[in-house]
Amino acid sequence: MKGDLLMPMNNQRKINHKISGATKVFGIIGQPVKHSLSPMIQNTISSFLNHDNIYTAFPVLEPNKLHQAIQGAHALGIQGFNVTHPYKQDVISLLTHVDPLALKIGAVNTLKYEDEGYSGYNTDAQGLYQSLVQHGISLKGQDIIIIGAGGAARAVAMMVADHGANRIYILNRTMNNGKLLAIEVKKHYNIDIKYLSLEEWDGLPQSTICFQTTSLGMGQTKDQAPIEEDGFYEKITTAVDLIYSPSKTTFLKKAEKQGSYIINGFGMLFYQAVKAYEIWNNLVLTNSQLASLQEQVEKEYQSFNE
Ligand code: NAP
Repeated sequence: MKGDLLMPMNNQRKINHKISGATKVFGIIGQPVKHSLSPMIQNTISSFLNHDNIYTAFPVLEPNKLHQAIQGAHALGIQGFNVTHPYKQDVISLLTHVDPLALKIGAVNTLKYEDEGYSGYNTDAQGLYQSLVQHGISLKGQDIIIIGAGGAARAVAMMVADHGANRIYILNRTMNNGKLLAIEVKKHYNIDIKYLSLEEWDGLPQSTICFQTTSLGMGQTKDQAPIEEDGFYEKITTAVDLIYSPSKTTFLKKAEKQGSYIINGFGMLFYQAVKAYEIWNNLVLTNSQLASLQEQVEKEYQSFNE
C-alpha cells in the first residue's frame, strides 16, 4: 500500500518541548517522505501526552540501502518507525518478529525497537478498523464490496475477513489483480469471496458496506468515481473511502445522495498513527484522550491547508 499520505509544503510543526540526550527518536522510512503527514501527527500526539519523543522523516533513497538503514537505525537505538512506499513489503524480511495480521496482509507499516531487532505491525488495517468502530460500524456477518485490488485493498480484505465478514466482492479495473487478491485471502480465511470487473455491479446484493480503495477521486481525478452509475450506490448502506483529501470524494457524494452513511479516510489515517504510537510507547489512549487528540490533529491538518 502506498500508504502514507501527502500534504502541502508548509508541513513544519513547532516542537514545544526541550530536546535532550534522553529524547526518544522515532521516524518514517520511505521514498519520498518529505510531504508525509506522519511527522505532524506523531509530534502532535507526543506534545498532547507531554512525552519526550521526537519524530522525523528518514528518506531511504536507494532500495538496496534499506537493509543498512534498518541495521544502522537499530544500532543507534531508534525506538520506532513508520514505513511507507516503496518499502512496506521489502522491510518484512529484515524484521525479527512480524504480527500475524501484518504477515497475511504482506505489508508492515510500523516497526518497534526490541533488543534483538525490530518487530513489525500493520496499523493501517488496525486504524481502519478502529475508525469503523468509532462510527459504530460492525463487520460481523456483513457483505462487503471492495473497489480496488492494490495494497490498500489487501489490508481491507484481510481486516474484514479477520473481523467476521460474511462475503467479500472485489471489483477491480484489472480483473486478474482482483483474482490474485481473492486467492490470497482464501489462503488465510474460509470466506466466500468473488472478483468482478467494475462494470459487473448489477448482480451484487443489497445492504453492503463498500470500501473505495483506489486512488481515483483525488488530485486530477477528483471529479471521478470508479463506478459512476447511481444504481450501484443504492446497494450500499455504508460507504468508506480511504481517501481523505478531498474530505468528500465523488464516490462519497454519490453514496450520500443515495442515502448511505459515509466515512472518509481521515479516521484511518489518524488511528493508524495512534495505534503505532500506542505500540511504541506501550500504552492505550482512553476514548476521551482520543476525542481531544483527534480534534487537535484535525486542527493542525486544517492549518496546513489554509
Ligand atoms: P495501489 O497498490 O497502487 O493500488 C491502486 C488500485 O487502484 C488498484 O486496484 C488499481 O487498479 C486502482 N486504480 C488506479 N487507478 C485507477 C483508475 N483510473 N480507475 C480504476 N481503478 C484504478 O495503491 P494503494 O497503496 O492500494 O493505495 C490506494 C489508495 O488508498 C490511495 O488513494 C491511498 O492514498 C489510499 N490510502 C489511504 C490510507 C489512509 O490512511 N487513509 C492508507 C493507505 C492508502 P488496477 O489493479 O487495475 O491497476
